[in-house]
Amino acid sequence: MRRVSTSSGYDYRVPDCLFCKIVAGDVPAKIVAESGRTIAFRDINPQAPTHVLIIPKQHHRDLAALAGAGDGLLDEVAAQAHKVAEAEGVSGGGYRVVFNTGPEAGQTVFHVHAHLLGGRRLAWPPG
Ligand code: 5GP
Ligand code: ZN
Repeated sequence: MRRVSTSSGYDYRVPDCLFCKIVAGDVPAKIVAESGRTIAFRDINPQAPTHVLIIPKQHHRDLAALAGAGDGLLDEVAAQAHKVAEAEGVSGGGYRVVFNTGPEAGQTVFHVHAHLLGGRRLAWPPG
């Protein structure tokens, strides 16, 4: 991991991490919202009319690591998910926030991310 200076202080970046590259601006993404410690961008392969990924700018591999980081960062990710849902017009009808955690659950990018899904009726149980 590399310690880099950012406008919000210092972050830890992982050189081969796709989402760290999006945070750094090295890989383009359709960014829809940004807060001091998070960014939100559209999923490249959307599974619903609204499909946005909300991530901490700091690298944590999964939800457990993010929860363990403390200092309110997980709260900030959750609050951003709701703000984006409001901005996308899906907060009234309902939306889903998913953290795929581990390969069996379908996690493919190991920089923790909340999937915000909405804009259509979402089946339960999920596949
Ligand atoms: P996971 O499978 O880890 O829960 O979610 C990873 C998500 O990242 C997938 O939904 C996938 O479509 C999305 N994704 C993968 N590569 C890119 C990319 O380069 N840009 C964006 N915006 N999304 C990506
Ligand atoms: Zn990362």
